[in-house]
Amino acid sequence: MYKKILKAIKQYDTIVIARHIGVDPDALCSQLALRDVIKLNFPEKKVSAIGTGSAKFSHIGKLDRLENYHNALLIVADTPDKRRVDSVDFSQFSYIIKIDHHPFVEEFGDLELIDDKASSTCEIIMKFLLQTKLVINSSISELLFMGLVSDSNRFLFNSCNSETFALTSYYLDKYPFDISNAYYKLYLRPLSEVRLEGYISSNMLVTENGLGYIKITNDIIQQFGVDSASAGNMINNFNFIKEVLVWVTITEDIKNKQIRVSIRSRGPAINHVAEKYHGGGHKFASGARVASFDDAMKLIDDLDLLLSHYNLEDEVIEDGN
Ligand code: AMP
Repeated sequence: MYKKILKAIKQYDTIVIARHIGVDPDALCSQLALRDVIKLNFPEKKVSAIGTGSAKFSHIGKLDRLENYHNALLIVADTPDKRRVDSVDFSQFSYIIKIDHHPFVEEFGDLELIDDKASSTCEIIMKFLLQTKLVINSSISELLFMGLVSDSNRFLFNSCNSETFALTSYYLDKYPFDISNAYYKLYLRPLSEVRLEGYISSNMLVTENGLGYIKITNDIIQQFGVDSASAGNMINNFNFIKEVLVWVTITEDIKNKQIRVSIRSRGPAINHVAEKYHGGGHKFASGARVASFDDAMKLIDDLDLLLSHYNLEDEVIEDGN
């Protein structure tokens, strides 16, 4: 598979790298690392990383402008289904490669490199680069590190194994970068977000079955002076609460006229509940977009029911997203 992907990269003069909507560091770092590595090894090729950016991640790297493409290769990173690919007109591409670590949803690539046991798409790319012996540099190594660290929540999840650490160690050793600077790029945040985090801790409702949830309305978002995306991303900060096995943030997104539901678990797998509401994701880190708070509460009821049948002794540490 690695050889076939490299062959396709060599074959095309124009290459576009996309990823899922609702950008996160693993998706962004995957596409930027791939773009930069292709540019470094094949300077004559035109390579772009596209998609809607986010001010929050602007210091990680710059995306390219959308253009019209002809006879181009499309590489989609970190996205299991076509409908969630950001800003891509598939008809403009002659060949499609998917590189992803989500559970399989649908085939849309001519070549699909999927490893749903990998901590992150960046980890898959680390292996690909190692096997194909493409030249890389320290800034590419830093991007891959940031994506892996972010999606594994700093090596917290079961998706990290000895290979994850070995790859991280190899890249850090061979292509060193300032590790604390990488963490700043990922984790520095404004006081307003920390204050909202305090609000969530104080106001999260917790059911008898161990379901924690909070509605973050647009009024709250305004009151704390954060944006809807940052509010939704707070879900990852509420792991390891003894009384809470599954936790959910329900965030109003006025701009897109939808409610973002983010779900995490260190108990039962929750992706099937997210799928029932046209969402999806990993077994222990899923999400959905619903039309109203009422729909979100139906999802909450389903999760609480799931928890009511769950045997506490089966508790696990969640996988990454
Ligand atoms: P979030 O909590 O929004 O960051 O989402 C966690 C994970 O769930 C993402 O990495 C996606 O894999 C998945 N996910 C979120 N929203 C959706 C959706 N509407 N449809 C399919 N998968 C989703």
